[in-house]
Amino acid sequence: MKTLKEKILKLKKEKNAIILAHYYQEPAIQEIADYVGDSLGLSQEAAKAKAAIILFAGVHFMAETAKILNPNKKVILPDLKAGCSLAESCPPHIFKKFIDAHPNHIVITYVNCSAEIKALSHIVCTSSNAVKIVESVPEKIPIIFAPDKNLGNYINQKTGRKMVLWDGSCVVHEAFSLDKLIALHKKHPEAKIIAHPESETHILATASYIGSTSEMIDYVKTSPYNKFIIATEAGILFKAQQEVPEKVLIPAPSYEDNTCACSECGFMKMNTLQKVYDCLLNESPEIIVPNDIRKKALVPIERMLELSK
Ligand code: SF4
Repeated sequence: MKTLKEKILKLKKEKNAIILAHYYQEPAIQEIADYVGDSLGLSQEAAKAKAAIILFAGVHFMAETAKILNPNKKVILPDLKAGCSLAESCPPHIFKKFIDAHPNHIVITYVNCSAEIKALSHIVCTSSNAVKIVESVPEKIPIIFAPDKNLGNYINQKTGRKMVLWDGSCVVHEAFSLDKLIALHKKHPEAKIIAHPESETHILATASYIGSTSEMIDYVKTSPYNKFIIATEAGILFKAQQEVPEKVLIPAPSYEDNTCACSECGFMKMNTLQKVYDCLLNESPEIIVPNDIRKKALVPIERMLELSK
């Protein structure tokens, strides 16, 4: 009898589908994916996808981005309820008023937002290319940055810009406990703390290295150090550990005393192997983006992809 993984792989071939998975997906899903990456890598893969169906193992805004880039392909998401607290912290009608209150500003939005928000933006960015994209805007032009205030603060510090920030954040990256992190570091003083820029400023202040999920994995791979405390969603540990089986990777602790003593994204973990199978079998739930919004949202995404080459 075939295992669920084997059934998914067979179905994937029969249906000419590809599976794109985010680093925060559960290991079993990462194992059957054609590509595992962060938001930038996933957008780039989606842009060059040749398959008829893209199954996006991630959250809703990621699948939406894939659909915006591939209007003629079927994009499916295993669980339509897999949202994102950061994307939800930026409702389009209120954001539109915010833009109107800041005339002449360029609007740069982090990819973790809805298609409607992208449609209101000049350029989209990810945590991998955010600094580069902000620096591509001449200094005299003021910028609105949304929706993540922590990433925005980090970019302001790095670039010396004074971008106007939308007050949004990610529940997962704001769940790290500084006290527990310091106590953990005392137990492992030789470990390097590395953090995602969506984390709060006081967590970033403890880090020896700050970078996107892909950059964090590269850092762990190439760094001469052997032990790391990692402040981002704990799913990244699976891929990172595969790359460096000999190194010790410890998830940064969250306030909550959960089973893994780390910070996990409940939205990302809504996708399961069974749901991936069902989704592929039924070619549903499908992601639909209204054409007028899709066309407007495509422009800032393409600008990002062009600037990231
Ligand atoms: S980790 Fe945070 S930003 Fe990423 S999908 Fe989950 S809620 Fe959204």
